[in-house]
Amino acid sequence: MNPVIALVGRPNVGKSTLFNRLTRTRDALVADFPGLTRDRKYGNGQLGGKTYTVIDTGGISGDEEGIDAAMAEQSLLAIDEADIVLFLVDARTGLHVADEAIANHLRVNQKKTWLVVNKTDGLEEHSAMADFWALGLGDPRPIAAAHGRNVTALIDEVLAPFPEREENAPPPATEQGIRIGVIGRPNVGKSTLVNRLLGEERVVVFDEAGTTRDAIEIPFERRGRPYVLVDTAGVRRRKNVSLAAEKFSIIKTLEAIKECHVAIMVLDARSGLVEQDLHLLDYVLSTGRALVLAVNKWDGLESEQREKMRADIKRRLGFADYADLHFISALHGTAVGDLYPSVERAFKAATAHWSTNRLTNILQDAVSEHQPPLVHGRRIKLRMAHQGGSNPPIIVVHGNQTEALPEAYKRYLTNTFRKVLKVRGTPMRFEFRSGK
Ligand code: GDP
Ligand code: GDP
Repeated sequence: MNPVIALVGRPNVGKSTLFNRLTRTRDALVADFPGLTRDRKYGNGQLGGKTYTVIDTGGISGDEEGIDAAMAEQSLLAIDEADIVLFLVDARTGLHVADEAIANHLRVNQKKTWLVVNKTDGLEEHSAMADFWALGLGDPRPIAAAHGRNVTALIDEVLAPFPEREENAPPPATEQGIRIGVIGRPNVGKSTLVNRLLGEERVVVFDEAGTTRDAIEIPFERRGRPYVLVDTAGVRRRKNVSLAAEKFSIIKTLEAIKECHVAIMVLDARSGLVEQDLHLLDYVLSTGRALVLAVNKWDGLESEQREKMRADIKRRLGFADYADLHFISALHGTAVGDLYPSVERAFKAATAHWSTNRLTNILQDAVSEHQPPLVHGRRIKLRMAHQGGSNPPIIVVHGNQTEALPEAYKRYLTNTFRKVLKVRGTPMRFEFRSGK
């Protein structure tokens, strides 16, 4: 699991400036994840061989009332989720009473905390630091987030205890079966669905829960086929902790998406699609994961409501129309069994291998059906196609002047490949290369 760094401090000390720098380093794989909560922003970054996740918190003014109190709560939640806290203070304004209030929070919290003094550009470091020793959080570390001064060295040190890990590492092998992640915002019915999936007839749940990994795994077998549920809802633990609701964790959700082969994203027919759903979906798409959509709580809706809901979802989720869409009731078990064939199909498509011959034939058929346009009097030529990767599948198309291919033509090709190869449930990526 990525180490998680929370940026904490009062407003205007430079948290978002630092966030941007940390998530936009040259080789960073940025996956911004705004809006899942109102005030926290998530991003991934990379330094050398190490990757990390950064949370930019709303900011704590130390004097919380009303909206500030809500923001402070967000910050405290972010601190909870983090492995490391970078507590930012402002060298220009010097020590502020609010800094002391935050320092008190942090001392109680006992998270590994670094005291970071920002905006030291143009200041003499030694005297700029002097004030901040009083916070009792150890050595103040001077940086200038806006200019990058000392930032890399600081992060390098912060990450020293954590091992190297490849950001885009594929999920673990499939020996134990397809890994299914059930994801979605709080209260959409994830744990009800997980219990339903596991409670189905002919499902055997193995008891040695794999708590070895960060996300809790539940291995099981259905009709003789093995699967692993990657549990973000904390279902396993709820059983023991007398149903105490697990706190929804974005970090766990992001981790589960990375750790699964197929994500079942649960939506709530009662509340309809909300922005959080779209952000989460965006994130799934950016990771290239295979996906099945389940609109839950379909029970007890009037047919008029159903029609409206169905139309709304189809329209707004057009960008994810490669995913099978199911209308289910986790509570009553309606249509829950139908999720399995979709999961199987999505996994198969995501990991399929096609020969260069087959792909080239599809390409040539598509081209003779509908020629690419002329550019400066010369026809764009598309010669051959091969598979450049899987999960998600990548199709590499070779030809001449491919950089001039209009978007509409690319879409035509994409759709043709999808249709002929019968790919459902996974995103597909296309690369176009020009050469001799
Ligand atoms: P946040 O509210 O904590 O997220 O703070 P911002 O990142 O929005 O920064 C507040 C202000 O401080 C902005 O005007 C930034 O340009 C400025 N700022 C941030 N980092 C530095 C720095 O390293 N040096 C200087 N001089 N200004 C900075
Ligand atoms: P989670 O936070 O996503 O794990 O959601 P839960 O599984 O805890 O469910 C949240 C609430 O929605 C609970 O009160 C469930 O009983 C209810 N719920 C879950 N699935 C359904 C469903 O299919 N229909 C109805 N009507 N309610 C459901």
